Amino acid sequence: MEETERIRKKRILVTGGAGFIGSHLCERLLKEGHEVICLDNFFTGSKSNVIHLLDHPYFEMIRHDITREIFLEADEIYNLACPASPVYYQYNPIKTIKTSVMGAINMLGLAKRIRARILQASTSEVYGDPIVHPQREDYWGNVNPVGIRSCYDEGKRCAETLFMDYHNQNGVLIKIVRIFNTYGPRMQPDDGRVVSNFIVQALRNKDITIYGDGSQTRSFQYVDDLVEGMVRFMQTDDDITGPMNLGNENEFTIIDLARKVIELTGSSSGLTYLPLPGNDPAQRQPDTSYARRLIDWEAGIQLEEGLKKTISYFDTLLSRG
Ligand code: NAD
Ligand code: UDP
Repeated sequence: MEETERIRKKRILVTGGAGFIGSHLCERLLKEGHEVICLDNFFTGSKSNVIHLLDHPYFEMIRHDITREIFLEADEIYNLACPASPVYYQYNPIKTIKTSVMGAINMLGLAKRIRARILQASTSEVYGDPIVHPQREDYWGNVNPVGIRSCYDEGKRCAETLFMDYHNQNGVLIKIVRIFNTYGPRMQPDDGRVVSNFIVQALRNKDITIYGDGSQTRSFQYVDDLVEGMVRFMQTDDDITGPMNLGNENEFTIIDLARKVIELTGSSSGLTYLPLPGNDPAQRQPDTSYARRLIDWEAGIQLEEGLKKTISYFDTLLSRG
């Protein structure tokens, strides 16, 4: 019995583990009985996201920047380190692209050396402002290489290339997931992404900031669905690399989202219209048939249910001051 437990227990490295998604993933992996090493430079993440895990005997926290090499032993690596909100990834674009590219090289080098499986948190941004709708994994995208989103989009595209090349050239066992807009508890209130912005504005009865005319669309996935998909995909056969879309197929306009948030918070907020940032994609919706087929996965938590949980989190957070 003890022997089987020892064999099944893995040591798992989560880069960006103190971030929004990373903290949920660390929690989930610990619950499954694994040992977790959480690595983060705390740029957009926070110790408060993992503070409840710090006493766990199988949880370890390392302050480190993935643009630098690191030597560790692990069975699996989830590479999530990278700012994800446009506000933060555009703050220092050179650092953002270094994080994606040099971070990928360092983590792939590590995976190669220690023979670990490695999963890359890629993004629907690799499709850019998509002309094909909904987006399937075989769509190559429509990305501006010299725009304000390029440091993130092209960094993530280059990271995908590196992952495939380390797989093809060196036999590294890789998994690439393309994550569509994900939300939930532990987003930072000043994170700048649309769901957290709208909820915080609504709870404070401040105007909701709509960029452009609000007709652009996104498909919003609750964080628990995403974590389930990532963990399942990591366990697939060695020859399966992805990329695999993980997202909720239900598509909403930004105006729809604003109205939903106002309704669910009972807020007296109005709407205010601000200029649309450059290269903001007009539409985004995943085709997740590959995930359904391969890992029997689909996003089950719909917008209203997920928003209620997220609103409740922010309500508590903001009332603490
Ligand atoms: P987040 O900003 O909350 O988390 C990113 C984490 O990475 C933070 O804890 C940050 O401090 C850390 N980090 C950043 N640069 C680092 C560096 N150089 N070295 C070490 N740590 C570093 O964002 P998130 O929403 O949790 O996103 C996690 C991952 O998922 C990112 O790679 C992001 O690109 C990807 N993703 C997220 C979404 C989404 O909607 N949330 C969508 C697509 C892809
Ligand atoms: N957005 C908005 N108001 C905000 C923040 C974002 O209207 O306060 C819009 C933004 O222009 C984009 C969409 O909401 O069209 C999603 O933005 P987010 O930054 O969350 O993610 P991404 O653009 O990377 O999908």
